[in-house]
Amino acid sequence: MSLVSRVQQQAVQNPTKAAYSFMGKETSYAEFEGTVAKFAGALQTLGVKKGDNVAFLLGNTPHFLISLYATMRLGATAVPINPIYTPDEISYIIKNSDAKVVIALDLLLPFVEQAAGAFPKVAQYIICETTPETGDKLRALPESLQAKVKPFSVLVQAGEMIAPVEVADNDTAIILYTSGTTGHPKGAMLTFENIFSNARDVAEYLQFSPNDRVLATLPVFHVFALTVVVNAPLVTGSTILLVPKFSPADVFQVAKEEKATVFAGVPTMYNFLYQFPDADPADFSTVRLAISGGASLPVALLHNFEDKFNVRISEGYGLSEASPVTCFNPLDRERKAGSIGTSIINVENKIVNELGEELPVGEVGELIVRGPNVMKGYYNMPEETANAIRDGWLYTGDLARKDEEGYFYIVDRKKDMIIVGGYNVYPREVEEVLFAHPGILEAAVVGVPDLNFGEQVLAFVVLKDTALLTDEVEAFCREKLAKYKVPTRIEILEELPKNTTGKILRRTLKEQSTTN
Ligand code: AMP
Repeated sequence: MSLVSRVQQQAVQNPTKAAYSFMGKETSYAEFEGTVAKFAGALQTLGVKKGDNVAFLLGNTPHFLISLYATMRLGATAVPINPIYTPDEISYIIKNSDAKVVIALDLLLPFVEQAAGAFPKVAQYIICETTPETGDKLRALPESLQAKVKPFSVLVQAGEMIAPVEVADNDTAIILYTSGTTGHPKGAMLTFENIFSNARDVAEYLQFSPNDRVLATLPVFHVFALTVVVNAPLVTGSTILLVPKFSPADVFQVAKEEKATVFAGVPTMYNFLYQFPDADPADFSTVRLAISGGASLPVALLHNFEDKFNVRISEGYGLSEASPVTCFNPLDRERKAGSIGTSIINVENKIVNELGEELPVGEVGELIVRGPNVMKGYYNMPEETANAIRDGWLYTGDLARKDEEGYFYIVDRKKDMIIVGGYNVYPREVEEVLFAHPGILEAAVVGVPDLNFGEQVLAFVVLKDTALLTDEVEAFCREKLAKYKVPTRIEILEELPKNTTGKILRRTLKEQSTTN
């Protein structure tokens, strides 16, 4: 079994069932499978074969789903890239991944025109049309580029359907470049088994059914979306509701009009949805399950959201290197607020000390993971791979603890921990307190160098109540936190810097604080 064969099976068993809906138009499993088979045929004609790498500069449109499943059908490897990265970031990944073909949204046509000569290994660019003008623009390209840059729609039409190419479980299906904390991003190689097993196991654990309609507004080039709102629904035979760009208005509208049953988001999305002034809880009345991941969900926000929208939030945890999911709050047992839940099916999670020895319940250590979802390594980086995977266990770099009932709690990123005069301060703990203040919309905490204490705690807040004074915030923290954890400086910002998946960029905040 593989993702490709599961979709093939759905197309035979439930041909008219909608695989996805985009801008209110549904596409059946049979149609999807047919388009994938044709586009795979077209890619083959362009020279793509098993083992080749195909880079995607795509967002939440059907082009992504078709390109992903066509690439896998050929036994080739997909390299999804965030299309709004800077040209330098995109160029780095295209070069580093040895991509042979680049499939890009038409908004990237100017980049493609400039870059066409810059990547000798890229033999072909495919442009996905999202506006009627794109065809004209492609026809107007200089002759030297005409053969190298082809429209997606023409290729799909002309492609000859091909059967899936056989692959081994351990062949690479996807290379995901992860943000990396230092230096350049690294390409996590996920095998066909990795991504299939994680989609299947998440779907089973979260009780996805063919009747589910899963709202997909998380960016599909990111691993959280890829598994939870793309592959898991397709494995189950349920329907994906594509929302091209996150906005509370669009999410509520699609949830209501298309009767979403599952919503998945990162904590910042939950915050935006909760704060949205025009939100009508009735718009979410068909949603049976809300999923949070990617960063810690403040407990105050979890309760506020659940109360307002009358929906249960299940928080989970994962990372690119684990395809990504390792834990989720179970649906058939207690949901614990502030916890990432228990190990999902087939995956083991363990808390260890610096020597790799398992720690007792309640003690904080590094979270390590083992299972069929763990990557085979970083692309062309044997040393980094050996550092990340030791004795078959993936070292996540996250600090966590486990309770008596096997629920895990992320304490913080190992590298984000602040040490004040020898005491450990976990930014998350301070952020939870700030977040619980009714006048604060968002908060992030970082450590900055301090001559006396080694480091001091610096908080950045975005205010809901603009009359709130930093002294009041400090007093609030003093009531709830030990003295050494109380921020010594509080800065008010208009907004917090975030990446496209909604994660707060602590590194940027640190840099800002040192340049001030
Ligand atoms: P990425 O590889 O981009 O998916 O990032 C993975 C990282 O996101 C993990 O190593 C964690 O630091 C963080 N993360 C994911 N889910 C959670 C969660 N529920 N709580 C806290 N941190 C999380």
